[in-house]
Amino acid sequence: SLVTRFAPSPTGYLHVGGARTALFSWLYARKNQGEFILRIEDTDLERSTQASVDAILEGMAWLGLDHDSGPFYQTQRFDLYKEVVAQLVASGHAYKCFCTIEEVDAMREAQSAAGEKPRYNGMWRDRTDHPTDKPFVIRFKNPQQGVVVIDDMIKGKIEIANAELDDLIIARSDGTPTYNLTVVVDDWKMGITHVIRGDDHVNNTPRQMNILAALGADIPKYAHVPMILGDDGKRLSKRHGAVGVMQYRDNGFLPEALLNYLVRLGWSHGDQEIFSKDELIQMFDLSDCNRAPSAFNTDKLIWLNQHYMKTLPAEQVVAHLQWHLTEQQLDTSNGPALTDLVAAQAERVKTLKELVEVSRYFYEDFEQLDADAAKKHLRPVALEPLQAIAAKLAELTDWNQATLHQAINDTAEALGVGMGKIGMPLRVAVTGGGNSPALDLTLSLIGKTRSLARLQQAIA
Ligand code: GLU
Repeated sequence: SLVTRFAPSPTGYLHVGGARTALFSWLYARKNQGEFILRIEDTDLERSTQASVDAILEGMAWLGLDHDSGPFYQTQRFDLYKEVVAQLVASGHAYKCFCTIEEVDAMREAQSAAGEKPRYNGMWRDRTDHPTDKPFVIRFKNPQQGVVVIDDMIKGKIEIANAELDDLIIARSDGTPTYNLTVVVDDWKMGITHVIRGDDHVNNTPRQMNILAALGADIPKYAHVPMILGDDGKRLSKRHGAVGVMQYRDNGFLPEALLNYLVRLGWSHGDQEIFSKDELIQMFDLSDCNRAPSAFNTDKLIWLNQHYMKTLPAEQVVAHLQWHLTEQQLDTSNGPALTDLVAAQAERVKTLKELVEVSRYFYEDFEQLDADAAKKHLRPVALEPLQAIAAKLAELTDWNQATLHQAINDTAEALGVGMGKIGMPLRVAVTGGGNSPALDLTLSLIGKTRSLARLQQAIA
């Protein structure tokens, strides 16, 4: 059966590029009823941190990319790697190299000086006169003839001559395995059938395929995903602003929106822009992935976020809103139901963060009116209409959108003024500012007691 994996190195948060790779691997597994494995490549002890592992797990969970097994930690598999290295040495596919760093450097310098590509020259490849008291590394005996062909599921056929590849170190002098070895062993032992990863790894692939072949392992299929570019055409990085997945949560994006956004970075299905998760699972295929890099476009992400805020069931949006309410310390126990709030505001904001920012007046009394809005719409011109509407609203027994609408219209008519003369002052009085949903809706959500009290305060 089909097995994919996501294999992040825990040296930072889960960034957008990693999340997209994870998404593609996850989708491919889900689409084919396969298995999705999470593997933490933490062998770089200096750069790997538990905080980063946690951040990656948090990001995956937030995006809903669930794994079927793992997380497996490479640092817990050193015995296995050592066994495999020993096996490669025993079968003549790897050898001890006693070169000192100075020797290797000298080799490289000489090659550069001669205009050649610097590479290890294989000087210990066939030697048997091994010293007993010198440190050594283990190198893989890369084939010297022939061509490695990657049938990349995204990039197409890539051919690399073995003559281009030197004998890679697979174990360091302290016995620890190197990156290419651990990846190979794990892809093999975990039965990975499809390796989906960033194309920054494409140069490792022929080397990894050679080692797999030496082990007599099945060679997985490879799909190298092109990189993501920032709006300046350079590889997306911190310089471009938010790149950590959880930063998007913090900034008020829905995981549904980010997921939909990420999948479209490098994959398409006709002209369709909006995809539910189920649709993606049905429609996703690696053959529809672009070969060219894709550019990050924040406006499109915002557009998708607005789409999902408006169209997802309000309860689902509320579930994500909770985090922002806590973050911005807005106590919503006294005021409209959050589902009603979302229904009223979703059209009007770009993010959940903004939704909370502009909704405070529904739950908390404000200390003072927004100065500009008050100057423009309240005093002194609006006193009379405000008094009239206050009186009218005080009489309302049924406080709902329809009765409120009627009351506002009636008052405007009775005073012989346009809606603007009454609507804006009323809005400023009850919300403290000049922006809110439709007045009847706003008033109905704020409620009678609060609305009247605020009106009295504005008139006083
Ligand atoms: N650990 C590698 C990285 O984070 C990925 C290795 C792979 O997918 O083969 O870049």
